[in-house]
Amino acid sequence: MLSEAVKNLVPYTAGEQPQDRSYIKLNTNENPYPPPESIKKLLGSLDTERLKFYPDPLCSRLREKLGSLHGLPPERVFVSNGSDEVLSFCFYAFFDRNRGSVLFPAVTYSFYPVYCSFYNLPYIPALLNPDFSVSIDRFLQEAANSSGLIFPNPNAPTGILLEPDKIESLLSRFPQDKAVIIDEAYIDFGGKSALPLLDRFPNLVIVRTFSKGMSLAGLRIGYALGSKEAVNALFTVKDSFNSYPLDYISQEIACHACDQAEYFRKMNAEVANTRTIFTENLVKTGWQVLPSQANFVFARKPGISGRDLYLKLKERGILVRHFNKETIDQFVRITIGTPADMDIFLHTVSRFLN
Ligand SMILES: *Cc1c(COP(=O)(O)O)cnc(C)c1O
Repeated sequence: MLSEAVKNLVPYTAGEQPQDRSYIKLNTNENPYPPPESIKKLLGSLDTERLKFYPDPLCSRLREKLGSLHGLPPERVFVSNGSDEVLSFCFYAFFDRNRGSVLFPAVTYSFYPVYCSFYNLPYIPALLNPDFSVSIDRFLQEAANSSGLIFPNPNAPTGILLEPDKIESLLSRFPQDKAVIIDEAYIDFGGKSALPLLDRFPNLVIVRTFSKGMSLAGLRIGYALGSKEAVNALFTVKDSFNSYPLDYISQEIACHACDQAEYFRKMNAEVANTRTIFTENLVKTGWQVLPSQANFVFARKPGISGRDLYLKLKERGILVRHFNKETIDQFVRITIGTPADMDIFLHTVSRFLN
C-alpha cells in the first residue's frame, strides 16, 4: 500500500514536548515570555461568522503589514504555515539536482537534509571553521557544484552569527543565478539582518518566523522576503500543495502582532540580557560556551558527555537538546528561559557536577 517514496523517508525529529510531568523547557527555543495580552481582546472581537468562508489565499493584509515593517512592497513578501513550510517550498522552488547539490553548513538546522531527502536532492555539507563559525570560503569552493546555498543566521545549533560584511562578500562572489537562502529564525536576539542586501542581490531570499522572536510558535506563521520573481515562485509551489495554508484567525493575530514591534523588541532585549548573564555564569564554572546571538547557547562541560548532561538534567526536570552527531555530541543546546529558569539550571548542574 505504501509508496516507495514514503518508505525511504527519514523525518525530522522535533524537540520533545513531553506531557508526563512539568519540565523547565529549555529544548525547543520557544520564547519564555508570552505574546501581548491584547491578543485576548482581539480573539474575543473576531467575527466567527467569517469562519464559514475560506480565508484570504493571498494573505494580502498580512503581507502589506510585513512589507511595511521591512520597507518592501507586499509583492516581495510570501507567508505560509510556519517557516518550516516556507523553507520546504524554498527547497522545491530554488534547488534542483540537475544543476548541482544543495549546499549548507555541515552543522546546521537538521531539517535541511530532511527536505533534501523529501525532494530527492543531493547535498553538500560544508565543514565549519575550527571555532564552529560557518566558512564562506567553503561555500564558495563548492558553489560551482551546487544549485544553491542555505544557512541559518545565526546558525543553529551553534548560535554563531555571520556578520553582514561577510554575507555581503559571500553574495558578491556567489553565482548570481543560484539562490542563497538565509534562514533568519533567530535574528531578533541581537544579530544584524541581511535585509539591506536584498535589493542588490536578487538571488537572496530571507526566511523569517513568528515562532521565536514573536512568541507565537503555537500560531505557525513563517514568511520569506525576496524578489517578486522569487515570491511568485513560492506562490506557485504553495498553490500546488494547498491554497489556504494560513487560516483566518492566524492571519488576524499575525496582523495584530505586526503592530506590536516595540513590545517584542523589549522582550527580546530581556532574553539577550539573560543570555549574557547566563553565559558568564557558565564560563565561570568551567563550561565552554560558543558566542551566541540567538535565544539559546551551545555549551559543553569538559568531563561529562552531552548525552549524560541531557539525561541528568531531564531526570531533574529540565529539558535541553542534545544532538547525537560527531563533532557536536559533547554539547547541549540550552534555550534561554526566564532569569529564574536559568538560575534553576545553574543550581541543578552545580549539584550533580561536583
Ligand atoms: C525554529 C526554526 C525554524 C522553524 O520555525 P517555524 O516557523 O516554527 O516552523 C526554522 N529554522 C530554524 C533554523 C529554526 O531553528
